[in-house]
Parts: sequence; structure tokens; C-alpha cells
Amino acid sequence: MSRKMLVIGEARDGALRNVTFEAIAAAAKVSDGGEIVGVLCGAENLEEMGQEMIYHGADRVVTIQNEKLNTYTSDGFGQAVMAVIEEEKPEGIIMGHTAIGKDITPKLASKLETGLISDAVEIEETGDNIVFTRPIYSGKAFEKKIITDGLMFATIRPNNIKALDRDDSRSGSVSAKEVDIADLRTVIQDIIRKTSDGVDLSEANIIVAGGRGVKSAEGFKPLEELADVLGAALGASRGACDAEYCDYSLQIGQTGKVVTPDLYIACGISGAIQHLAGMSNSKVIVAINKDPEANIFNVADYGIVGDLFDVVPKLTEQIKEIKV
Ligand code: FAD
Repeated sequence: MSRKMLVIGEARDGALRNVTFEAIAAAAKVSDGGEIVGVLCGAENLEEMGQEMIYHGADRVVTIQNEKLNTYTSDGFGQAVMAVIEEEKPEGIIMGHTAIGKDITPKLASKLETGLISDAVEIEETGDNIVFTRPIYSGKAFEKKIITDGLMFATIRPNNIKALDRDDSRSGSVSAKEVDIADLRTVIQDIIRKTSDGVDLSEANIIVAGGRGVKSAEGFKPLEELADVLGAALGASRGACDAEYCDYSLQIGQTGKVVTPDLYIACGISGAIQHLAGMSNSKVIVAINKDPEANIFNVADYGIVGDLFDVVPKLTEQIKEIKV
């Protein structure tokens, strides 16, 4: 049965986040040939980003440009997206399971009086059903869910569903919609960024993470050098954040970010259950730890028992040589 799907796009610093393209791919799986309509809210650059959504598989994109959508608020974006939902009447909605996705989708689902499958890592068609797989108990188990009736509303975890190849021969309309946005109850005065310009942790393909074993803020330097040659993002355990070796924005785990990169290199991290909750679904895990009994080795695909201050610089040098 074909379904008309709505994909809520997400941008940062004037460019679409990759998870938007993954959400289009997820919608394509679910739509069974039905129309895929993108929606983009913001204050600038929407036409160009809408075109990118078309190149990545959307059939049509509706943009809502408004000064009140300059920065994300659930109030403003909620009103804008609701207006598109009411007009388009999709049979399904997909968005990334990002900070914004986690904030806005439950509110929309509640307004629409429908359910929501959040944080899907896999979507497959089995017989007449679309089956969504999502982690439970902090990633220790997975559950499979189907929607038997009504709107197929889901968020997808970044880095799990492969985006479709970009095809700039695809065509489709990008149309602007006027939405009268009522006065916002929340006004963003200023955004103070804690992270640097580096690769976004939640969408990174490679992560080099440090734990209390790095011993100081200075101890992160060799990890930063390794991350640089690999084009990786830097992450950390809560142990390292608590010890003030790095900012909490780098924390991975149960109370930090949940990541699923292709490669996760854990340096001086013991592998506490709360840390594993945020990274154990990474595709390949490399652990560097001087304690052969460290729990991290139980989830690692490759383990190096050694001092990270010896191992990491050697790794960086080797990778530099391979890359030359
Ligand atoms: P440690 O456990 O101290 O491990 C340091 C490791 O470094 C050791 O294995 C040691 O052998 C190794 N090491 C030391 N020196 C070297 C060296 N020179 N070379 C190589 N290896 C070396 N933790 C998280 O990470 N994320 C979370 O989101 C999180 N949420 C939590 C929520 C709750 C409610 C609670 C109670 C805890 C949470 N924690 C979380 C904390 C968690 O339980 C651990 O305390 C924390 O993960 C430990 O960090 P660590 O592995 O860096 O430090």
C-alpha cells in the first residue's frame, strides 16, 4: 500500500544535517512508491536546501520562511510544521532522532493524537507490515514495533539508515508556504556554543573518545591529533568530563550522547555500563587500555592492551603514512 510521507528536514548553520537525507531514505522504504514531501522551516537558504532534499529522494519540498523561525523553538517550528501536516495530510512522518527531533515529535504526536516510534535504527518490510527496530534498556536489547493503524510517525537514529545516493538529475518543486506564526512564548536571546568547529559527534562516522585514563586536559592532545588525521569527532566518558579534562558536550553514554559511528576508538575508558549504553552499537569498536581486564574489551572488536600515550601517537603516525 503506497503512503504519502512527510520528512521534517533539519539544518544547522545553513546546511542540512545528514540525518535529513537518512530520513528521506527511511521514508522511501515506508512509502512503497507514495509521494515523499519534505518540510523545511527557517529564516534563510531554504530554497537551496529544499533542492538538496529533492536530489536525495524527496519528490517535493515545502518551505516555511519566517523571522520567528530563525532559531529553533518547539513553539515556532511546531506551529509551522503543523500547518504543513494539516494541509498535506500525510500518512506517515519521519524525522531524525536528534535533539530537535526528540523535542518536537512527541509534541506533534500529542497534537495529532497519534503514536510515535522513536529512535528507530532499522526499518524493514516483512509481509504486509513495516517493522521498526529500536533499542531498549540503554541499548542492551532491541524491540521490534509495527504500527497497525493510523499515522506512521517515527524518528530515526542518525547514522543507521543509509541515505540514498545524491542524484542531481532529479527534479521536483520547492514551494514556499506562508504560515502566520503566533507570538512565541519562548524567545531565544543568544546561543552559546560549547563545541568547537569539529565534526558533529552524533553524526560522526569515526569517533576517538577519551576517558579518565587521559589523566588531564593536556592528555586529550594525542587523541585530538588522531581524530584530525582520521577526520573523526572527539568524544569522552563521563569520567573524563567529571574530572574536567573536557567539556560535557563530549560526553557519550546513558546521560550523554548516543552514537553509532562506523568506528569508535575508546582510549583509557574502562567500559562502565553507562558508557556502553551510548556507544556499544558502533559498527567497529577499538579499545586501548592498559588493564587487560577492563570491561571495554568485552564489547571491543579489536583490543590493544597498552599505555594510550604510547599507542595513540604510533597509531596517528601509521595512519599518516598510509594516507600519504
Ligand atoms: P575509569 O572507570 O576510571 O576508567 C579509566 C580507565 O583508563 C581504566 O580502565 C584504566 O585501566 C584506563 N587507563 C588509565 N591510564 C591509562 C593509560 N595510560 N593508557 C591506557 N589506559 C589507561 N559514564 C559515561 O561515560 N557516560 C555516561 O553517560 C554516564 N552516565 C552515568 C549515569 C549514572 C546514573 C551513573 C551512576 C554513572 C554514569 N556514568 C556515565 C559513569 C560511569 O559509571 C563511569 O564512572 C564512567 O564511565 C567511568 O569513566 P572512565 O571509564 O573514563 O573512567
